[in-house]
Amino acid sequence: PGGRIRPVPVRALRSPGPGGPTSAAPVVIWFRRDLRVADQPTFLAAGQGARALALFVLDPRLLRPSGDARKWFLFGCLRALDESLGGRLLVVEGDPAQAVPLVADAAGAGEVHVAADFGPYGSSRDREVEQALAARGATLVRTGSPYAVAPGRVRSGDGGRYRVFTPFRRAWADHGWRAPARTDAGFLDWIDPATVRARPAPVPAGPDVVADLPEPGEAAARDRWRDFLDHGLSGYADGRDRPDRPGTSRMSVYLKYGCVHPRTLLADLAGDGSEGARSFRGELAWREFYADVLDQRPDSARRNYDPAFDGMATDGGRDAEVLFAAWREGRTGFPVVDAGMRQLLAEGWMHNRVRMITASFLVKDLHLPWWWGARHFMRRLVDGDLASNQHGWQWVAGSGTDAAPYFRVFNPVLQGERFDPEGNYVRTYVPELAGVPGRAVHQPWRLPEGPPGGYPAPVVDHQHERAVALERYEAVKAAR
Ligand code: FAD
Repeated sequence: PGGRIRPVPVRALRSPGPGGPTSAAPVVIWFRRDLRVADQPTFLAAGQGARALALFVLDPRLLRPSGDARKWFLFGCLRALDESLGGRLLVVEGDPAQAVPLVADAAGAGEVHVAADFGPYGSSRDREVEQALAARGATLVRTGSPYAVAPGRVRSGDGGRYRVFTPFRRAWADHGWRAPARTDAGFLDWIDPATVRARPAPVPAGPDVVADLPEPGEAAARDRWRDFLDHGLSGYADGRDRPDRPGTSRMSVYLKYGCVHPRTLLADLAGDGSEGARSFRGELAWREFYADVLDQRPDSARRNYDPAFDGMATDGGRDAEVLFAAWREGRTGFPVVDAGMRQLLAEGWMHNRVRMITASFLVKDLHLPWWWGARHFMRRLVDGDLASNQHGWQWVAGSGTDAAPYFRVFNPVLQGERFDPEGNYVRTYVPELAGVPGRAVHQPWRLPEGPPGGYPAPVVDHQHERAVALERYEAVKAAR
């Protein structure tokens, strides 16, 4: 009336996305490494209020190489997600290229929404699913990724990609990231899977895991993060290298399955210039860097990033198998190495410093190929992540980006004495040494009565193996 124009704030104008609330067709939200409802860009892409079927596919190709601890944790995350969706998560089992189109058909959905996967397997699987959907007239819609900045987005001035961490981190921070998406379980109208003609698989109870694992799921991730912000962050910069103290966030398992998005963590730290916050952001940047590197060089998951290392001699044969078994089982006779390997078996997690020590021991003291160790870590780590793991290993082996200088061979005794100065870490995981006081625990062969309680003598002579490793590294350098 009166011809007056009433302004509408631009922010209130939402164009309904295809498949959104104005469209009758429901959508499928296919969860993968984003097992949460908060900060979910796929929900935004579907459009608020859209009728949505929540789907998870148990993919044998991913489950087969997973150890029991990781399966247990994953299944726990699925149960937690199902609960937050009011029991409306449809879980099916099979090859996603077949299962996803079948479910989309059964739900009458024209769109399947996912967060993009940049891993070598995930991206080729998604291309197959995309083609299979297209053949039925449906679309795979990728929105967001498990990273604050998706691989490929951080570029140098001339548009190139980074091969070295420090300039990547700077450009990554300058690039910035979106604010967390404001989503929750009520953002979409979840379809009851019982009304869909699909063959559901119950979320498996999972193996009986005796390991000491963190609580799975989004709520547990949030609680852990809050606790770290309140009690861990201020001491993080100094304490993160000490395996004998609870100095790190333990967020890796939650980041692995996307129970929390890294952008949410970064938003909580925004404007915090403290040492702890800066250091923590730097560690998250490593995760993003390695994902970017793996995206640039998918072959580096299996092969040396630096091909000069293809000519490096490694040991093989029966002795190698025996030494490899001693390493896996924590029976090398080097206490900090054994404590780390036993922590991995007991908890599906290992402290970063000890990951470096145990990896260095495998490569530089036992002269075994880094990928043997990487495969064992991937199987056992609940946070096992192809990009961080393979490149963490290649960093230690010297064959990766930003590789540790080849001449740096960790001395397991000195590393133990420096980062576990009272020996508490070793005594926690190596019960045979529980009665050895203080730092003497790092050299049990020096005790007057020898190593106690059946604890083994060192399987190799570190000084000798160090010299062998250096010789082999020199040969690689000379052949360059
Ligand atoms: P925090 O110190 O609290 O760090 C916070 C987060 O930053 C971590 O959760 C992680 O997401 C990221 N981060 C920290 N350090 C690194 C790093 N060096 N590289 C990449 N991201 C990092 N991390 C994995 O998530 N999965 C793996 O499979 C994995 N394998 C590794 C193998 C080797 C040989 C090495 C040396 C490191 C590996 N890491 C891996 C990196 C690191 O050890 C773990 O991320 C860290 O120990 C997890 O504990 P946290 O969450 O308490 O770490």
